Amino acid sequence: MRFQDIIGLEEVKRKLIEAVNADHVAHAQLFLGAEGSANLAMALAFANFLNCENRQKDDACGLCASCTKNAKYIHPDLHFVFPTAATLKIKREDATSEKFLKEWRDYLIKTPYGNLSDWSFHFGWENKQLLIPRQESRNIITNLSLKAFEGKFKIMLIWLPELMNGNAANGILKVLEEPPAKTIFLMVSNDENKLLTTIRSRVQLLKIPSFSDENIQHKLKEEGLDEAKTQEIAYLAEGNMREALNLATGGQNLGSDQFKQWMRFCFTFDFQALVKMADEFQSGGKEFQKALLNSGNKVMRDTLIHQYGIEKLERIPEVEKGFVANFSKVFSPEKIAEVVPKIEEANYHIERNANPKILFLDLSIAIAQIARSK
Ligand SMILES: [Zn+2]
Repeated sequence: MRFQDIIGLEEVKRKLIEAVNADHVAHAQLFLGAEGSANLAMALAFANFLNCENRQKDDACGLCASCTKNAKYIHPDLHFVFPTAATLKIKREDATSEKFLKEWRDYLIKTPYGNLSDWSFHFGWENKQLLIPRQESRNIITNLSLKAFEGKFKIMLIWLPELMNGNAANGILKVLEEPPAKTIFLMVSNDENKLLTTIRSRVQLLKIPSFSDENIQHKLKEEGLDEAKTQEIAYLAEGNMREALNLATGGQNLGSDQFKQWMRFCFTFDFQALVKMADEFQSGGKEFQKALLNSGNKVMRDTLIHQYGIEKLERIPEVEKGFVANFSKVFSPEKIAEVVPKIEEANYHIERNANPKILFLDLSIAIAQIARSK
């Protein structure tokens, strides 16, 4: 990963590059950004830049031995720590990052904007709970006690330090405060509030803003999508590149078409069709179900905007306007106020592995009742 592989965020890149050029690189940094932001990608690009043997003005060269290894995430001076779970052969406590490096590298190459569940599914842990075990702190200290092999810097990249076992976190406080020379900690976090304060107070914060709609459209155009589609997806993704790429690779499957169809069956209270749809939603999988509910919430929001006549201030895509206008006839603002919490509640339960078929049927009935009430 190089800076140029990340679209936009020029201000953040400039700050990082200037720190290197001025020889003022903080030895412990927190790359804080929402899910689907470039927090991980930016830390990877920075690590690459730090050890590049032929740094260019605004990026790593991409050609030297260091860059070649960093492109595959096999540079011996770039160490990774990330959440894991037990496997059939490895016990929870022994499940340290070094045992999963092959899969991790492959994951980074394919999914630099991914989240914890992407990593979990990539490895095959499915819905297991992942964390950074106690044993990891000993590995961190051992790895950092070695001299840098090839690079100018030894880099310890910790992904999601908020998932560190408390003992593991306490185990690295000393080295975090006084690391060996030329050692740099890059922590990549989604949630500053979940970090132990002892860790938080020892790292320099770098906020990674979410992507702009233009950034996302730019990326999607590179992926070969047309203008209308990139516009629609950028609108739905709200700065989340992971979401945008998922929506893009899902093709038509943005959930919004299904949501509209579903609502039509709710209005007419076609129970047989609703049962069939619940089956379909179930087989679509969790990510699809979440996308469906999210696009539902967006439609509700757009309908309110339409009802209040403030469309000009908002960015409702052309393709949505017709549906929103019709939807407004059935759903008054009062009814929307009843439906939205139900959709949010469903999202909450999906996240916690509720039975999707029952959940969607219940939700269908509730929405149908609201739609048809006086
Ligand atoms: Zn290079």
